[in-house]
Order: sequence, then C-alpha cells, then structure tokens
Amino acid sequence: MATYTPMIQQYLAIKEEAKDAFLFFRLGDFYEMFFDDAILASRELEITLTGREGGSDAKIPMCGVPYHSAEGYISRLIDKGYKVAVCEQVEDPSAAKGVVRREIVRVITPGTVMETKSLEGKANNFITSVASMNDAFALAACDLSTGEFYVTSFPPSLELLIDELNVYHPAEIVGDGELLDTLKLQVSAWSRPVLFTEREPMDSGRLEAQFTAQELAALSPVRLRAVGLLTGYLDDTQKRSLSHVRRIRPYEPSQYMILDQFTRRNLELTETVQDRSKKGSLLWLLDKTQTAMGARLLRRWIDKPLLSRGAIEERLEAVDKLYNDLMLRDDLRTELKQIYDLERLVGRVAFGSANARDLNALKVSLQHVPALTERCASSSSGTLGRLVDRLDHCADLADMIDTVLLDDAPVSVREGGLIRSGYDPYLDKLREASTNGKKWLAELERQEREATGIKTLKIGYNKVFGYYLEVTKANLAQLPEGRYERKQTLANAERFVTPELKEKERLILEAEDKMVDLEYQRFIELRDHLTTHLHRLQRLAEVIAAIDVYQSLATVSAEQRYSRPVITEDFDLRITEGRHPVVEAVMDGIPFISNGTALTKDDAPMMLITGPNMAGKSTYMRQVALICIMAQIGCFIPAKSATISLIDRIFTRIGAADDLIGGQSTFMVEMKDIQVMTEKATSQSLVIIDELGRGTSTGEGMAIAQAVIEYVHHDIGCKALVSTHFHELAHLEVSLPGLSNVCMAVQESGDKVTFLRKLIPGAASTSYGIYCAQLAGLPSSIIDRAYDLLQASGAAPETGQVREAMDVYPSSPEKKATREAAGSNDMAEVRELQHEAAAANEIVQLSIFE
Ligand code: ADP
Repeated sequence: MATYTPMIQQYLAIKEEAKDAFLFFRLGDFYEMFFDDAILASRELEITLTGREGGSDAKIPMCGVPYHSAEGYISRLIDKGYKVAVCEQVEDPSAAKGVVRREIVRVITPGTVMETKSLEGKANNFITSVASMNDAFALAACDLSTGEFYVTSFPPSLELLIDELNVYHPAEIVGDGELLDTLKLQVSAWSRPVLFTEREPMDSGRLEAQFTAQELAALSPVRLRAVGLLTGYLDDTQKRSLSHVRRIRPYEPSQYMILDQFTRRNLELTETVQDRSKKGSLLWLLDKTQTAMGARLLRRWIDKPLLSRGAIEERLEAVDKLYNDLMLRDDLRTELKQIYDLERLVGRVAFGSANARDLNALKVSLQHVPALTERCASSSSGTLGRLVDRLDHCADLADMIDTVLLDDAPVSVREGGLIRSGYDPYLDKLREASTNGKKWLAELERQEREATGIKTLKIGYNKVFGYYLEVTKANLAQLPEGRYERKQTLANAERFVTPELKEKERLILEAEDKMVDLEYQRFIELRDHLTTHLHRLQRLAEVIAAIDVYQSLATVSAEQRYSRPVITEDFDLRITEGRHPVVEAVMDGIPFISNGTALTKDDAPMMLITGPNMAGKSTYMRQVALICIMAQIGCFIPAKSATISLIDRIFTRIGAADDLIGGQSTFMVEMKDIQVMTEKATSQSLVIIDELGRGTSTGEGMAIAQAVIEYVHHDIGCKALVSTHFHELAHLEVSLPGLSNVCMAVQESGDKVTFLRKLIPGAASTSYGIYCAQLAGLPSSIIDRAYDLLQASGAAPETGQVREAMDVYPSSPEKKATREAAGSNDMAEVRELQHEAAAANEIVQLSIFE
C-alpha cells in the first residue's frame, strides 16, 4: 500500500467500507472507479477502461462516468442487482491540505433506490429483513420511496416465510445468515433478482431514534429483531435521517387470506404465468386507478384478501355506492387525475432530494384535495364519509409552497428562478438591483450605438470575460480611439470593455450570486419546514389511495356488469352464473359461457370435474377461486349473484407452469404441494387440484388421486374442486357423500366434437384424448392406429355415437344443489343447451386451435 499515491491510498481505505458495492469515487466532474470495480463496471456499463498512474509499477485500471449523468449509470447497475457506494468530496478542495477529504455519503442498493428512473410508479419497491428466533420467524418490509414499514411474525415455517415474502416481492433481503442461505435456494425462481445481505440487528437504543419507544415496546422479540435488522441496514446505507419512515405497521398473517406462491402465480393475481407481465392478470383487469398510490394500494389489496366480514362489507359498501353513481365516480376520477404521487413526493422531501418542481407538484395535488373529499363527504357512502371525516387537508402546506415558490420554478435548485417576489424583501432588492443593472446595460447599448453610429454594436455576456461591447470587424474603424479596452478577438468581431461597464458588471454579478444563494437557502428552508409535517401528508396520501382503489373497483365492476356478493361466515359457497373475470374480458366478441357453483356442507362440498382437455375445466376452477378472492378484497364479482363464505386459504395445484422449478419432476412437485395442503388446509379452505394424479403410471396415479380425494373428504372437510382425466374415478360419488360428479358438456356428432363449456352434473365417459390429438393435426395414420388400439383394449366407445355424459354415472339425486348450480336438472335442458351451442359450433371450434 505504501507505494500507492495518497489519493489511491485514500481510495483503498474507503473501498474497505464498501466491499460489496461499486465505489463511485468523486474526482472533479467525474465519478471514477479503480481496480476490479473498474474492470467489471466497464463491462457492465460498456464504458472504456483506461489506466492511471497510482504509484505502483503497473497502471491502475480505471473507468469513470460524468457526475451529471451518473444517475443513469447507477440505475443500470442497480437494475442488474449491484450496489453502488457514492463517495463525495466533503471539504472544499481549495481549503484542503493534501488530498481532499472524501466520504461515502450513501450506498444505493436495489431495495433502497429513491431515484425515479429505477422505480416503477405503480409498484412498490420493497426491501425486507428476515429474522429467526427459537420459536418464530419474523419479516419486516420497507419501501423507502414511500415510507411504508410493515412487520409480522409466524411459526418458524419456511413455507409461511416464503408465502409472506411473495407479497412483497423484495428486491433485497437482509437478515440472519443461516436463514438467508436457506432462502437463497428457494427464491431462485423469482422473476426479479434478489440481493441478499447478511448482517446484525441494530441495537435497540439506536432504534429509538427512528421509532417511538412505545411502538418498539409493543413488538415481540423476533419482530423487534426483524425491525432492527432492516433499520440498521437502512441506516448504514442511507446515512441520513429517514423522517418519512416513522410508523411501524405490525400485522398478523391470520388477518388475511393465505395464498402460497404457486397459488398466486397459478391464479395470475398480479402477473401472468406465461410472461410474468401485469397485462392479463387480475390486477391488470381491476386497475382503473388514477394515481400511482392507488395502483400500489390495489396491488396490496389483491395480495392480501381480507378475512373479516365487517371489513369486507365496509369496502363493498363504498364500491356499491360508487357502482350506482356514475357521476360521483367521474367526479372522483377527475380530481384524482390531478393528484401526483404524494407518497413518493413525501419520500423525496424526507430524503432531501425533492426539487422545486416536486414541491409544486405537491402543492397542485393538495389543491385538489378539498374537491375530492367534499365529493366523498357528500356521497351517501358511509365508508367514504368516514374516510374523509375530519381529514387534515394540509392546506396550510399548499399555501406555504404557493407563497414561496414560483409556479414555473425550474428543476435545478441552484440557479435561481425559484422564489416568488414579495416573499423575501432582501431578495426583491437584489432582484431590483439586477433588473436595474440590466436596464442600465440596455441604455448603455443605445447610447453607444448613437455615439458611434454603429447600429450592430451590442452588449453581450460570457462566463470568462463577463459583460462586453461587441463590434464587427467591418465597423471597427468607426470606433473612437482610447475609450475602449480590447478584451477578445473573434473571427469577425472584436469585444471591448469600459471601466464603467466593469463597475456595473460587478454590481450585477454580485447581486445575481447573492440572489441564487438566497433563493437556494429559502428553498431549503421551505423543504425543511415540510419535513416536520410529513406524517400529515402521509395520512392524507393513504386516504387518497383508498378512495382511488374504491373508484377503480367500482368502475370495473360497473363496466363488466359484476354483482355484489353476499358475504357469510358459514360454510356454503354458491355462485349463480359465474364467469372467469380475465378470460371473459379478453374474449373479444365470443361469449363467455357462465357456470354456477354450489359447494355446500349438507349437499356436497367437493366436486369431481371430468371432461376432455380444452373443455374449460381449469378455467372454471380458477374462476371459482378468483370470485372468492375478488369478494374478499371487497370487489363486486363476475356472476349473477353469489354467497361467499369466508375462505381462509386457497390451495391450487394447476397446470404445468411450475414444473421445472428446481429441476424437480412434475409428479414430485405435485406431491409436495399436496403434502403442504394436507398439513395446512382447514375446513374453511378452498382446495383446487387440476388433473390430479398425472405424471405417474395410470394405476398409481389413479390410486393416489382416489386416496387424496378421500383424505380431503374425510379429514379436511373443506370445499374442493378436483379435475381429473381419470373418468373412472367417478364411482367415488357413490361412496363419498360429500362429493359430486360434474363434467364439461361436449357434443359429438359424426366425427366432430363441440365443447359446450357448460358444466353439467355427471361424469364424462371419455377423455377424447385421441380426438384432441387429431385436432392438433397428428397424421391420420397415427390417429387411426390409436383408435384401433383403444378398440382392442375394450375401452373405446363406439364411434359416431352421441354420448351424454350423465349416462355413465348418473349423478345422485340427493346432490341437488350441485345439480342446480351446474345448470340443469334434466336431460331435456341439457339437450337444449347443446342445441344452442351447436349453432355456435364454428366459433367454439375455433377457440380450440388458439
Ligand atoms: P381444460 O382445463 O379443460 O383443458 P381450459 O380451461 O384450459 O380447458 O379451457 C380451454 C379454453 O377454452 C380456454 O383457453 C378458453 O379460451 C376457453 N374457455 C374455457 N371456458 C370457457 C367458457 N366458460 N366460455 C368460453 N370459453 C371458455
């Protein structure tokens, strides 16, 4: 080390503090990186790698980015999952003896970015901590850009921890080493990279600088540990007071419906399985929010359906009122549109990065609050009324910003043009001096033109020479001798100064310098003043977000003709003419066929669904789950009517999307899911299993499927929808009183099969596997041979026969509710249905080939 120059020594000493980050080392107008950082950064950022003499034999690798465009480079590194430590000069270089003192002023990490470039407006950016103590796990989550800070805890189960982590989808996880190692393996399949940092919790004494002693005392030891871990990390990396992160919001996981990560994905709640985009998800469908705050809150509501009937009814009441009052909806939308992202503006104020435009955005937003809340207060909705009752509008803050700042203040806070005249008398004086000076200049220009007769003579300004008189070469001869001092020669002009011009210049520039400084000072005072009122703004932001979510849910509900569900705490689930919300919304003209559902204690809480591939089984099962979730977030539902009993947890085992995770076989994944289900499901849960028992031999698959169905029936006793292509399992209806057979109706005529998409009582007699193969375009030789083999095995139906599903295992008449919900009580009705659908034959056939 001794051989390095003092500056490189300083660099190396500081780098020790930020081993796991790129060190952006400020040198004049650049941030430079050295050694390995430089090599890696030049590759990641595609910038040139150079070298620098630093006292060692070989040149030190170096690369750099201009400080004014650093944000873009930093956000690229953050997006790739790196951390960046920003090291600034912390003393005036002219006053420094030897090397200028430098310090890391902030470490930017994927979970703590504040820069708008790296943040998606409609989604949170969470960082979480995980802590484990003997008998519990805890998780704390913070979105630094909005100031939200949550904490929860649960029994020490990795599944529960991962389920909860899935709600936050964190960019970063900090915590206890051992737990992190286990987690690393589990979250490898997440759609975004996660950065792990092991660390020790902050001691509780220091925690009190951030939160109140009372808040901290209310936390259990494991929660306190999680809070300490996260706060300590934020403190280490941000190196400043976080005045917008002041309130801890503890909650119990049992307050919400539990959805494991596969269920969230399978049901495509916030992203699609296929390309993990929002488009095509439930969130996409329900998101008619007008503000980013509302969009983020809606996501949280979807991620955390409620379990309290009272709370759900409260939400439904607001949605109902808005649903029936188009004008109210429109008015709210108009006001909400004018409101900026208050939460993030507050975050930037707290962080000290808000500029004048941000504060003006805050002002404009606040000015729209009275009209918004007035509309809520005068609506007939109790929920909306309570939300805005005695709400602090923060009008004084809006007024204050308005008094201080010009409406069109620029982004830069160091170049003046920020402060309104009349606010600061001294500033006004300086302004006058500068304006007078400029007037004087204009007058001088006029006089000089007159005196010399040179019409093109002009006064100009540049940073090096200050104010000057410029005369073109052609006119030089007309200048009188001696009065002017030559300063600069250009290609076709000369620039001059006079003593009185220099004197005026001094006055003007002095005034301008002072003005800029004073404006900056006044701006900072204003911002600092706002920092002491952040909690008020945050409270207001929360209310606005909720209003926005209500109008969003109501707007979608009205547009899509949804209806208000009846929420009960009993067991029975009944849906009349239910639809799949998303499939329906993207059908584009083709009618979606509705189907009823009845899962009742007295009748049959379980359905065994048979029917060929493509018949609509999994769409139906998802539809039931989505309707329950929508009801429990407080939204209207895609059905004619429904009675929803509160569901504490939904398990799904659907589709092949997750089969490849961790290189496990389909069958193993399915069995593990089922194992979790057997352990965790209660009688209030909803279990959905698609194609139970596939992935192993037919005999074994069928045996396991039957055993699982019997277990759910006897031991769990919850509501369940199970689909299977083993139509042989239909006999279970006889032995299991709580199970009823239903199937997706199919019409066969000649060599054509038409999917009716209609659920009917009974079981399908065949899977139409070979027919599907034929549709898929397999060579006819294969198809013929397959039919021959099937025929020979004795399992084949006679060709050309029109089969009605219920002929095989007639559904028992006792399971009346299921039969009614499934849309038909007698064969005549089904035939009619088939007739109708046959008319749409072409269309239905078409969708098979999609
Ligand atoms: P399965 O699970 O039986 O193989 P799917 O549920 O995947 O069948 O449905 C296949 C396709 O049929 C879906 O992609 C959808 O476009 C269409 N579909 C399903 N249910 C309906 C319905 N009720 N009305 C109209 N189209 C439907």
